[in-house]
Formats: sequence, structure tokens, C-alpha cells
Amino acid sequence: MNNDTPRDDYKHVIDRIYKEVLPFLGRGKVADYIPALARVNPNQFGIAVLPLEGQVVLKGDARTCFSVQSISKVFTFAMVMRHLGEEIWKSVGREPSGNPFNSLVQLEHEKGVPRNPFINAGAIVVTDRLIDLYSRPKEEILQFVRELCGNDDIYYDSKVARSELDHADRNRALAYFMKSFGNIHNDVDTIIDVYCHQCALSMSCEDLAHAFLFMANHGVNPADGKRILSKSQAKRLGALMLTCGFYDESGDFAFRVGLPGKSGVGGGIVAYLPERLTIAVWSPELDCHGNSLMGIETLERFTTDISRSIF
Ligand code: GLU
Repeated sequence: MNNDTPRDDYKHVIDRIYKEVLPFLGRGKVADYIPALARVNPNQFGIAVLPLEGQVVLKGDARTCFSVQSISKVFTFAMVMRHLGEEIWKSVGREPSGNPFNSLVQLEHEKGVPRNPFINAGAIVVTDRLIDLYSRPKEEILQFVRELCGNDDIYYDSKVARSELDHADRNRALAYFMKSFGNIHNDVDTIIDVYCHQCALSMSCEDLAHAFLFMANHGVNPADGKRILSKSQAKRLGALMLTCGFYDESGDFAFRVGLPGKSGVGGGIVAYLPERLTIAVWSPELDCHGNSLMGIETLERFTTDISRSIF
């Protein structure tokens, strides 16, 4: 396909890939460490492709809302990056961790400074800084995401947030541990409350495809022309998504798909092709690293079919 792939061609590609990937249902496992996520119907599969210039292409359950979980870490990091700039790198690193998303081990060696903002420890530090910067962080996260998507109907799923709060002992442990090194400023319960809410943001593939269009457009939201991040910040955030967006499967995702992206244990994945498009896929069954099994299958086929990736 050439640069100006028309919408009908994406539709054609997505229709075919959807059929090819559907038989993978049943091969993964829905996240079960948060009870509200364990109850999600696994037989759901949605895809949304949004070209920078052109109309969205939707397939399957692309308009069904689900818990975005770790995808929210990109939103909160962008919000903090805008204010703190380079300062943020004193509190969090920018190297892939090669460890599971909720690991405590590395933190001890690295004196409470998490490897990157997308493992849980890193995201908890970012949420802590968000609380320093914003007086009503939960409301302001919602407002930021709603503006990106142009959708005022985005909310937190309060049942998921509650369920996660009831099972957040490991995240609390990460926060207290980092506090002992001086890398957490606020009350741990307050931080975990905001963190569990951001993870419980309920969005569809269509919403996510809109929300990340600014990343495909060098930091400017094409819907309203607003600059969200500077060009340099957008480049850096994209590099983090590429190298750290898929837990300890980030290298394999770059190898198979070749796009910057971010996943969450709710089964969502969002990725983008710079200057071209965003694509969001959702299917709740996860592989052994916590990434949507059908989501990765879909994205691998997509970049292969359209002969485009960042490589
Ligand atoms: N809320 C989840 C947790 O903190 C996020 C996990 C994820 O999506 O990676 O455990």
C-alpha cells in the first residue's frame, strides 16, 4: 500500500485480519488478579484505525468501553512531562526493565528510582508528581483525556477502581518502598486512590484511537490544533512507548509489530504510525506477559499487510 492508503483499503485489511485472528479466542487468559477484570466476558474483540487525515474504521467491539489500565500511564506521564520537563528524569529512568510490570526486585538495587514510567513503580511516582502539580488530579485526568478524545462521556469505572483498591497491596508496597528512598512525596493512600482510578478509566478502541492521534502528529491534537507536548517531548514519549510499552515483552512487540504503543491488562493496546495513523485493539485474553494475545496478533498482521512500520 502507498502513503495515501484510502479508508476503504484499511477497511479491507481490517476485515480480513479480524477473520484471521478470531480463531485465536481461547488461547489467552483474562487478567485475574483484580476480581472486576476477571469477570469480563473474554469473547470480545474490537479494532479501530484512525488515519490522520480521514475517517475512522471500526470493526467488532470497537465501541465497547473497557478498563484501559496501564494505557493510562501514558496520559499521566504526558500531563506531568508538560510541567516538569527534564526534571522528571531525576525521579524515574528511561530504560526498559525486562521485568514484570509489578516487580519490586529492581527497585532495591536502583535505590527507589524506577526504571521507566510504564512499570507500576514508575507510574506511581508519576501519579505522585501529578498530585504535587494538580489540585484535583482525578478530575483533571478525566478532563485531559476527554479533551484528547473529544468525548465528554468518558468516566472512571467505579467498580473496577474499588476492586483494584481492595487488591492494591503490591502497589502500596512499591509506593512505601520508594517513599523510604525519598522518591514519593504524598500520602500513599492518596496516591494509590488516584492511581487505581486512572487505571479504571473506561474507554473504547475508538476513544483510544482519537486520544493518541496527537502522538502520530508530533504532539499536536489534529482535532483542535492544540499542542499537547512539544515536538521533542512527543518524540521522547514515543521512544518510551516503543522501548517500554509492553512490560517484559517490549522487545518482542517491536520485533513483531514495529510501532510505538502501550498495552494494559484490561486487554487494550494502542499504537501509532507517525504522521499516518493510530490503531487500537481490544481483546481481554492476555498472553503470559500480560499483553492482549489477539491484540498483538492483529497488530503484527496489520503492519505486515500495509507494509509500513517505523522500520
Ligand atoms: N492497575 C494495574 C496494576 O497496577 C495496571 C496493570 C497494567 O495494566 O499493567 O496492577
